[in-house]
Amino acid sequence: MATTALLVDGLNVRFGSFQAIDDLSLAIDYGEVRAVIGPNGAGKTTLLDVISGITRPKQGRVIFDGVLDITHRSESAIARAGIRRKFQKPSVFEGLSVRQHIAIGIDVGFRSRLDEAALEDRIGQVLETVGLEREGERLAGELSHGQKQWLEIGMVLASDPKVLMLDEPVAGLTDEETERTAALVRSLVRPDRAIVVVEHDMDFVERIADRVTVLHEGRTLFEGSMDRVRADAAVVEVYLGR
Ligand code: ADP
Repeated sequence: MATTALLVDGLNVRFGSFQAIDDLSLAIDYGEVRAVIGPNGAGKTTLLDVISGITRPKQGRVIFDGVLDITHRSESAIARAGIRRKFQKPSVFEGLSVRQHIAIGIDVGFRSRLDEAALEDRIGQVLETVGLEREGERLAGELSHGQKQWLEIGMVLASDPKVLMLDEPVAGLTDEETERTAALVRSLVRPDRAIVVVEHDMDFVERIADRVTVLHEGRTLFEGSMDRVRADAAVVEVYLGR
């Protein structure tokens, strides 16, 4: 196995005349939780969009697992390769049960290797991991905002991803829900998985991240531990100090 899960190399993304990502290179290793932070418009969402195959870069590459160039692959091919993303806004199916959601999250290739009992086991494991084991039969529409976020994390976990991308997982959550989400994210760390989190809540970032990449105007302004990020004058100036 490669040590680098995702290598972003010389990435450029333009929207018309606007340079959203500007010659960005970064490496995210297996076994780490990497937070990507920075002011609005810094390019965080665009970076996740390129990695997940939604946005095509003008230049540059994204290499998965050391060898696989995923830059111009389709969204579904990238997901099948093991790169999964939870989007910012919870978008559960209000009329489906919690268990049904997890079943949907298990991709077809993975599911074809499971018989009925193994599928039920897998759903049960995922629900336990995200703390929804008692909610399996409930309709998703009845869940709290925090529970909906955990359900969506469960959906992306269901196929055992190699790269898990979480877009603002604690936006709008209570302090207690945020605390539970931090514990959940840390419980998902494995030597053969990389976790990438975009988030504005710096206390949460400090709890979960091994390393932090600060983006500003489509470039890396700083990379390091949260302690060093907080102490960096340029980061304070463009982001933390405001
Ligand atoms: P962040 O997630 O850090 O807030 P984004 O990646 O969403 O930043 O956006 C970076 C910049 O690119 C923003 O100024 C945004 O308005 C612009 N942008 C993003 N997507 C598009 C698009 N599809 N068309 C035009 N401009 C876009």
